[in-house]
Amino acid sequence: MLNRILIPALCTCALLLGCGKKERPLEDLSAPELRQLLDSLLQVENSERKLHRNIPVIVTATIKPGEGLFQVMQQAKLDNKNIIKIISALSDSVELTKLRVGEKFQVGLDPDNLQRVLTFRYSPNPALAHFLILGSNDSLVYKKMDKPTTLRHRLYKGVLENGSSLDATLRKVGINSRMVQVVNGVLMCKVSFSTNAHPGDQFEVLIEERVFQDSIWIEGQVVYASFRGKSAGFHEAFHYDDGDPKSTFNAHYTESGEALVFSGLRYPLDRLHISSAFGMRLHPVLGRREMHWGVDYSSPAGTPVFSVAEGIVIESGFDPASGNKVAVRHKDNTSSWYLHLSSRSVSKGQRVGSRQIVGRVGSTGRSTGPHLHFGFKQPNGAWMSPLSKRMIATPKLEGERFSRLKQQIATIRALLLKNRTPKKPA
Ligand SMILES: [Zn+2]
Repeated sequence: MLNRILIPALCTCALLLGCGKKERPLEDLSAPELRQLLDSLLQVENSERKLHRNIPVIVTATIKPGEGLFQVMQQAKLDNKNIIKIISALSDSVELTKLRVGEKFQVGLDPDNLQRVLTFRYSPNPALAHFLILGSNDSLVYKKMDKPTTLRHRLYKGVLENGSSLDATLRKVGINSRMVQVVNGVLMCKVSFSTNAHPGDQFEVLIEERVFQDSIWIEGQVVYASFRGKSAGFHEAFHYDDGDPKSTFNAHYTESGEALVFSGLRYPLDRLHISSAFGMRLHPVLGRREMHWGVDYSSPAGTPVFSVAEGIVIESGFDPASGNKVAVRHKDNTSSWYLHLSSRSVSKGQRVGSRQIVGRVGSTGRSTGPHLHFGFKQPNGAWMSPLSKRMIATPKLEGERFSRLKQQIATIRALLLKNRTPKKPA
């Protein structure tokens, strides 16, 4: 009796997210705890509960480089139908293009039928967990569990020491390694650290951080970074917020509005209208569920298609599926692919620059109308979602956006001032 009262009242959230700092994984739960958890989450009628009497077999799958949720779920030996079911149940609530290598997913399977998904759990950080639970009609019901987090600004300062890199110094002052990459990427646009950084050079970084229980780092945003070097000079970077989290203009800029995106790709078209994203979809011509290995941008026939970065043309030809296609290999061995073109304007072996026209939008090959299929391959040859590549909207902010940047810079300068001033003892 005690058990029955205690578990739902005290432990539903504790079981899911962990009461203390250590998270308690689903596989550690005892059978009655799991059953209780499923019941309380589902809040279904008693008559329906018999559906969930089986205690799931928990399979944990981990994201490896170049993988998305689809490939990860193949680790759990799920068939395509089940994987698509999970992906569609999550796609409205979880940013599936932002999964990181090493993240874990737990799938609870019916022990009598390992293709029957009873539960699914993804917890990107200790304060947040996404769940899917098998509901009535065999559908997966989405539930989100989150705990309150707090937002704070933190100023990190440091001086380069003899023999230590910026990277190492940023880590040493306590900046989270994901943010170290951002700072490095932004400052590299202005300072060549291999030749132009010296001991005694100074940096300042202001980060907006989201933390859980005042100590567990959840996510951050580099609001400001500066570098003052003996030979490199003084450089500042400001984060610009375009007012829409999906805007391609959200990036770091100098005070004069110059974009600071290191080896950033330009977009392949001037106007972007995504008609089909990377991932599983119903094929428009073949009518069956298939993996779509790129992004489709619908665009009028004849629109110029640009190479997203400089490189060498490794393919310029025609095949019945892709139609006219061009591929460009870039410096870092990634390659960009442009399909269904009405015409090609480059040939194999040719060197192309960033934003050089490689062809024109068309509808050649297996296509239902004029569009550009844009694909991106990693150095290992695996397709990746081009949307997860950093692309640059414009080299320079202008007009209304530039005015907004100036306002935001004023706010950032005020924040800097506030954070530089030592707090008076109470
Ligand atoms: Zn396509």
